[in-house]
Amino acid sequence: MTMLKVDNINVYYGAIHALKGISVEVSQGQIVTLIGANGAGKSTTLRTISGLLKPKSGQITFEGQNIAGMAAQNIVKLGISQVPEGRRVFANMSVQENLELGAYLRSDTKEIKEDMNKIFSRFPRLSERRSQLAGTLSGGEQQMLAMGRALMSRPRILLLDEPSMGLAPLLVKEIFSIIKDINETGTTVLLVEQNAHMALSIANKAYVLETGRIILSGEAKELAESEEVRKAYLGG
Ligand code: ATP
Repeated sequence: MTMLKVDNINVYYGAIHALKGISVEVSQGQIVTLIGANGAGKSTTLRTISGLLKPKSGQITFEGQNIAGMAAQNIVKLGISQVPEGRRVFANMSVQENLELGAYLRSDTKEIKEDMNKIFSRFPRLSERRSQLAGTLSGGEQQMLAMGRALMSRPRILLLDEPSMGLAPLLVKEIFSIIKDINETGTTVLLVEQNAHMALSIANKAYVLETGRIILSGEAKELAESEEVRKAYLGG
């Protein structure tokens, strides 16, 4: 069943035509990835879905409802949560306070507490550091915190913008296995990555973007084997 449908959107930054008719479909339960070089429009696509940018034309439907142009906080309330590129945790707040902020649109105190405990058991490193200031965490820990914070809104779909950026290979592996686990416990995932190899290894479906357009799409497994993708994005 289609959960999220991005239909032929055009997005501009002033005179810059950043997205030129992008269409993406995400089915419930899947991991879908958007790959492509720097500046292809991956982040812009995520920011438009989460309501930070408005498409000039085209439609975005989430569970049948048109959300294009809707206020970002209402989009969060519907169950769409984004982990921005570069984590952006609140550096001068503790780990626990950062997580609490992820639930700021909720009022179900008991469930919030339960979710916080679930996140601490999913990310033991955050649990050990719950009183530590977020700005003093390592890059990998900040990524985990940013993911945990997004999960605190109980998303139906999690939008991840380059979670592997700047992380050592071992940590990249760890983050990807956590993404898989989040997906297996019921959250649909839309993943933007420059690390095409890792992204294709966990995704069901993939789209390749180039200068604001989708140039290829299909089953992640098939794309990983395609000559074109191997040459351009997988280093041979
Ligand atoms: P990256 O991995 O570098 O973030 P990306 O695929 O996510 O790449 P976008 O960040 O979506 O690409 O950028 C798409 C295009 O829009 C680029 O040409 C970029 O220069 C332009 N762009 C992005 N943000 C802005 C902005 N705030 N103002 C003007 N142009 C922008």
